[in-house]
Amino acid sequence: MWRPESSPLDPGFLPGDRVILHADCNSYFASVESIDHPEYKLVPMAVCGDPELRHGIILAKNELAKAYHIQTAETIYSAKKKCPDLLLVSAHHEKYVAVCERINAIYEGYTDLVERFSIDESFLDVTGSRHLFGAGRQIADELRRRVREEIGVTISVGVSFNKTFAKMGSDYKKPDATTVISRDNYRELLWPLPIGELLFVGKSVAAVLRDHGILTIGDLAEAAPRSLSAFLGKMGLHLQRSARGEDLSPVLPTGYEEQPKSISHNVTFDHDLVDPSEIMAGLTLISDHVGTRLRRKKLFASVVQIQIKDTSLKVTNRQKKLDEYTCSTRLIRDTAVNLLRENWPVGKPIRMLSVGVTGLSLDGAQQLSMFTDTAAADRARRLDDAVDSIRSKFGKEAVRFGRNLNRNE
Ligand SMILES: [Mg+2]
Repeated sequence: MWRPESSPLDPGFLPGDRVILHADCNSYFASVESIDHPEYKLVPMAVCGDPELRHGIILAKNELAKAYHIQTAETIYSAKKKCPDLLLVSAHHEKYVAVCERINAIYEGYTDLVERFSIDESFLDVTGSRHLFGAGRQIADELRRRVREEIGVTISVGVSFNKTFAKMGSDYKKPDATTVISRDNYRELLWPLPIGELLFVGKSVAAVLRDHGILTIGDLAEAAPRSLSAFLGKMGLHLQRSARGEDLSPVLPTGYEEQPKSISHNVTFDHDLVDPSEIMAGLTLISDHVGTRLRRKKLFASVVQIQIKDTSLKVTNRQKKLDEYTCSTRLIRDTAVNLLRENWPVGKPIRMLSVGVTGLSLDGAQQLSMFTDTAAADRARRLDDAVDSIRSKFGKEAVRFGRNLNRNE
């Protein structure tokens, strides 16, 4: 029987391990420039902001220029001193973006979990794709071949059971190479490297680690956690987990946005609100804003909060847990109105009102209370849908609830 989690395809990986690729284009800008100008490959060449400017800097260089020890970010002046015949080419950023799209489209043919790390680097989680395309190494080799043949750019690919090691794998050997960092070889390949080579160890953190006798990635992996946290706090422990291959961070699909913990909106009024109908209109307007954002993010909320500022700028906060998850403007508004009625004396002037929602979930449908009036909820949802779609066609101002207010947002 086929069991996806116990694939024998990837030697040195445990059953249940993720298989993550990091694909990194080699000398990306220089390679893209060479697609239309193959002659650039025959001479030392560098891409720079503006070759007319002697103060410009080197953005990328080809393999032949690397032999002259030309560095990214060094000045053109200094590069020309190292290699007087260096061919300088202006950067074409639109081209780099367009080629980046085509390369990622190839990656996306192998998994929907492709996270763009930069214009020339992407992480791919291929754990679930191996029954279609083979082992991690095989997919990596195929990507290298396809990007080389179809785009004309070479890539280096790291294959590992976590993102940190996959990224270090793509750096390990280049150009046009696949490096597998498995549970069998990571101590041998990565632990002897200087501490500054670990992902997210910047210059200043590397200096602190070296001051404490931690010179290699292996030293960090084997350091006593207590002493690490004494001089680097939580970050020290986090980096140690990375060095041990315990980086559990997921590969996030393109366009992924972290889910917010709360959504709120407030309005400071240009005159103090006293009239209940004005207060009602204010709460309606603000709740509408919150509901629209909630639905746009496809989220549901289980708690409604209000904040009221009086004329002496004293702030009152109140909140209510709902019986159900909702994204309905009307339910948010009704809850906010009730909270205000229960907690604010009639006639007391209001300077600022805020409505917020929290207790957010991506899945409201499964958590609806058994006692919900489904017909009423359905009507409210259809009203919200209609408002959202009219606004998306005709703009935000096309639908307004209740009375208009003069306000400063
Ligand atoms: Mg690169």
